[in-house]
Amino acid sequence: MSEFDLIRRYFMQAAKGADSTRHPAGVELGIGDDCALLRVASGSELAVSTDMLVEGRHFPVGADPFKLGHKSLAVNLSDMAAMGAAPRWVTLALALPHVDEAWLERFSAGLFALASRFEVALVGGDTTRGPLTISVTIMGEVPAGLALYRAGAQPGDEIWVSGELGGAALGLAHEQGRVSLEGAAKQAMLRRLHEPEPRVALGERLRGLATSAIDVSDGFAGDLAHILERSAVGALVHYDRLPRPSAFVKLANARMEEECVLSGGDDYELVFTAPQASGSEIRALVDDLGIALTPVGYVQRGEAKLVLLDAKGASMRDRGGFDHFRPDPG
Ligand code: ADP
Ligand code: MG
Repeated sequence: MSEFDLIRRYFMQAAKGADSTRHPAGVELGIGDDCALLRVASGSELAVSTDMLVEGRHFPVGADPFKLGHKSLAVNLSDMAAMGAAPRWVTLALALPHVDEAWLERFSAGLFALASRFEVALVGGDTTRGPLTISVTIMGEVPAGLALYRAGAQPGDEIWVSGELGGAALGLAHEQGRVSLEGAAKQAMLRRLHEPEPRVALGERLRGLATSAIDVSDGFAGDLAHILERSAVGALVHYDRLPRPSAFVKLANARMEEECVLSGGDDYELVFTAPQASGSEIRALVDDLGIALTPVGYVQRGEAKLVLLDAKGASMRDRGGFDHFRPDPG
């Protein structure tokens, strides 16, 4: 199969039976020429982000290709959400050790299932032979001046978390044999790990409401630290208020729970800050969007440090996030 036959068969949306009327406006020219041609709505800024997934580092050898297709797009959609941008277009750079048609069929099915849900169009890419590596570049639009930066948190702002923290890390711990989950809890945690749900609608609704935002890819403590550094503020967070899956209750392993909730990566929830006066407007989003939103603490003046309080109000030791350069990234 030639390179272009492969692209036509697996990566052209029309060939995948997608309804072209659902494609976002702005695609003047998609796959097939030297470049795609895209039109950004006037008054909007173009938001661009790239993420790379490498076999053996970000996912294990032999990982389910459908879930990989989902996750490689989901992590990029999550960056759009964290910026308050509406995702529109993606390009896909793929290195494959060999042409495995069954793998390509499942991978593209996972990718397009999510792409059509979020009305994102695949408009180009590159395909080459090499160790399995998936790199998606996503482009989206955000009204000029309304993007959610990491910088912008103000002393006195409340800190909010969407959904639940630690579920993906708990799923990973299960896969690594460090805990044993069963039944619905196991299914739910593995889903959080392999098929995260990017909070795109929430990101868009937070425009003009949140003062800063980030998505939790490396762990709550580490990702909040990025907001604190860029905003030059500190934070006080109540550990007990951090929302977490009920599977942790049954687990009854306080040390693992702490590790997952504070430092577990891959949850792709949003952490954001907002003035206390916006609290009721933010609470109203819970019903609108069907996502839990939990206030967990406050931004405070001073050094860019996170102070974590335990149930008794005593300070816990600060924790960092997932570190890609650690010898065993899991
Ligand atoms: P070029 O030689 O100009 O880089 P290619 O032969 O690599 O062109 O690609 C031909 C067309 O197919 C281009 O429009 C490119 O964007 C698209 N393309 C290549 N690989 C992929 C892919 N994995 N997914 C989507 N589009 C792709
Ligand atoms: Mg090329």
